[in-house]
Amino acid sequence: MTATTPTLSRVYPLGSRVNERGHLELGGCDAIELAREFGTPAYVVAEGDLRARAREFVEAVASQHADYDVLFASKAFPCTAVYRTLAEEGLGCDVASGGELFLALRAGLDPARIVLHGNAKSSAELEQALEAGVGHIVLDSIDELERLDRLAARLASRQRVLIRVTPDVAGETHRAISTGQADSKFGFSPAEARRAIARLEGADRLELGGLHVHIGSQLFELEPFRASIQAVAELGTFPTYDLGGGLGVAYTSSQHPPAVADYVHAMIATAHELLGAGKRLLFEPGRALVANSTVTLYTVETVKRNVSTWVAVDGGMSDNLRPMLYGAAYEAVIADRPLMPGTERCNLAGKHCEAGDVIVRDVSLPDPGAGDVIATPVTGAYGYSLANNYNGIPRPPVIFCNDGNARIVVRRETYEELAARDLD
Ligand SMILES: *Cc1c(COP(=O)(O)O)cnc(C)c1O
Repeated sequence: MTATTPTLSRVYPLGSRVNERGHLELGGCDAIELAREFGTPAYVVAEGDLRARAREFVEAVASQHADYDVLFASKAFPCTAVYRTLAEEGLGCDVASGGELFLALRAGLDPARIVLHGNAKSSAELEQALEAGVGHIVLDSIDELERLDRLAARLASRQRVLIRVTPDVAGETHRAISTGQADSKFGFSPAEARRAIARLEGADRLELGGLHVHIGSQLFELEPFRASIQAVAELGTFPTYDLGGGLGVAYTSSQHPPAVADYVHAMIATAHELLGAGKRLLFEPGRALVANSTVTLYTVETVKRNVSTWVAVDGGMSDNLRPMLYGAAYEAVIADRPLMPGTERCNLAGKHCEAGDVIVRDVSLPDPGAGDVIATPVTGAYGYSLANNYNGIPRPPVIFCNDGNARIVVRRETYEELAARDLD
């Protein structure tokens, strides 16, 4: 019999390892020391992983197509340091609200490389985007088209726009993050898109750059992406096509999403075949850039044995809503013995007043006890951005780790801040 040495799951950030003390190490920093220094819960970002994934994506596109832009779908992790890091790696960004636009501009992103999305943008948000001079506004309805044309006239500006097409392609994903089916709150059906295209020919202030398509998130099959390009190809020929985001990532070692290179290759080959080789192609990856860069550290407050074993930590649905929203699966280890075989099946529970506040169900942990530091990997996408103050829990800090150096890029929220907006 050959004994296999246990190794860290491949879903941890690049460069993660178990160090000489047997502790989990992220970005060269010992997770136990991070927990001691910065407290828990904390989002720990391995900066090298974040940069490497951005570079990998850009290089994959650049090696196959000349006229492109890669836009970080910033709703996945909209903090200043992430905007800046990805901008340093050559990315623009997309934003889905005035607030995200504000954050992106404040972080120093070039407005010409910002795309504004949203199925219900307010006039104030549209004005904000016109005044900032964003590269494209993605139109989502005829109402919005008319309104934007009037607003641009009032501000004496012109705006390049894209039309978001809902191609009736449903990617295999959770219903809540599927956006490409015919009956969706997002975008124009192909028939309505034709109307919008015709209407834009007579618009005074809007210039149609092309079409946008984004069919959903956490997708593992390439075929629906190809079908979405087919659907936009049928609507005519335009200078620019924004092919959206949606590439899935592995949250656990049993999940096998396509490699970035394979996804990009499939997208570009299909675009060349169906749209022509000389188009401007925009990509909007969110999750695939940031998810695996981050690990959340928690501290165990209590272990209880009621039929099953409940390991309760100092965070939960206030810092990671995905298990509750989508039934998302995560892994967990104890940070000072990450490779030790589990001794019992546990539910990793949060501290919130909801029975559904369970971060990981049925995870095997080695003799968990109060005070243990727990690490849950792959929390970089839609963790920070969906964080909330349920039960008066201050939101966690974001710690960037690189080459053994840790720095706080977002500090922990304070109790005072919980009441900062209360006027009475
Ligand atoms: C959310 C979103 C993305 C990014 O999706 P990911 O699954 O995170 O890659 C891209 N484009 C649009 C329009 C989106 O709404």
